[in-house]
Amino acid sequence: MIKRVQANLENKVKDYASKVRDRIQQKRKKKPNRKHSFYDYPTCVVACSYKNTKPVAKESGTCNANYYTNQKLLAEFRKLKKYYGNNKVIGEESRLCDNIIGFCAEPKAAELVLRVYHTSHFVDLNFSKAYRPRTSRVQNYCKNCKAVFPKLNKT
Ligand SMILES: [Zn+2]
Repeated sequence: MIKRVQANLENKVKDYASKVRDRIQQKRKKKPNRKHSFYDYPTCVVACSYKNTKPVAKESGTCNANYYTNQKLLAEFRKLKKYYGNNKVIGEESRLCDNIIGFCAEPKAAELVLRVYHTSHFVDLNFSKAYRPRTSRVQNYCKNCKAVFPKLNKT
């Protein structure tokens, strides 16, 4: 991947992580009596771009089943399912790791990018490193994400 693309992604995700931190601080100020918790923060934030276009950042966390519209992404998610007893995909357990299908920052950001550029060409998606916004530490991509986006195995 060209250096400028990677630099744009890293700038985007760092900016987004700081916005997330500000948001949590504001929330805590509004409710000073509420006990603080690690869970106030999303686990992870990441930025994604299509080819050399403008990156989009997103955080991990629960989402509605309707969040995802990309059919190829949904097909990949279906392959991750641990139990096949129902038609649900988003929010289901994975056979690969403990992360819940569809709740990671990587596919959530990818969905937004794929929607804008009307593409399902996952190999043209670039990702920043994933960060824990609470600590700013780099977080490894999970097995679900690596299975869906092969490029994540190379970084
Ligand atoms: Zn993941």
